[in-house]
Amino acid sequence: MIELKNVSKTFTMHNQSSAVIEVINDVSLSVAAGECVALTGASGAGKSTLMRMIYGNYLTQAGQILIDGADLVQAEPRDVIALRRETLGYVSQFLRVVPRVPTLDVVAEPLRAVGASAETAQARAKELLAKLNIPQRLWALSPTTFSGGEQQRVNIARGFAHPYPAMLLDEPTASLDAANREVVLSLIEEAKARGAAIIGIFHDEAARDRVCDREIDVSQFTPGIAA
Ligand code: ADP
Repeated sequence: MIELKNVSKTFTMHNQSSAVIEVINDVSLSVAAGECVALTGASGAGKSTLMRMIYGNYLTQAGQILIDGADLVQAEPRDVIALRRETLGYVSQFLRVVPRVPTLDVVAEPLRAVGASAETAQARAKELLAKLNIPQRLWALSPTTFSGGEQQRVNIARGFAHPYPAMLLDEPTASLDAANREVVLSLIEEAKARGAAIIGIFHDEAARDRVCDREIDVSQFTPGIAA
């Protein structure tokens, strides 16, 4: 479902004498449906960079990133948008939303985008918000004023609303209390059980051990960092 072939990345610092830093060199990996793979390695190894490349936020200089067979590196912007809408989900560490949109709509939106009815999308949004212990009195409000932990849970609810066949999770259990951490881990297990291919960054080792089938140490692809 997710396959990287000989992927490399450099950053060119245009404001610093065009210095070129090589961050990722020649990564090949694949993640099958129903499998969860953890990206590991020290801070600065390139985990977030690799994840942003797989989502198409960062340009990839060499290689192929195939999501369900479609090469994201060569894809037109409209194809990347369609892929993100239907196939590839990304739960980033921070919630980014349009101001004044109610939480319920924020969470329902990915399902509306793939053609679900308002009723179906809202029912799923309510189910997820309740599961993630967001009090019902907050559902009609914008999440912009919510606490950090509440925003993170709204972000997770939104990320799991549509059953994406491929998912990228950046620290999904960071700063959650034990009860909500448990809910998130069960959402990941459910996604795997329905056949989602998942790549995640988890500093929470117990969470990683529980939901991930394999680990890939990104530092082995980092020039100058010993694995
Ligand atoms: P990790 O997630 O493993 O901690 P990152 O992917 O954040 O590591 O960073 C890997 C390396 O890439 C770091 O040396 C970082 O400074 C560099 N890097 C990340 N993003 C950029 C960027 N936008 N421009 C320049 N360098 C970057």
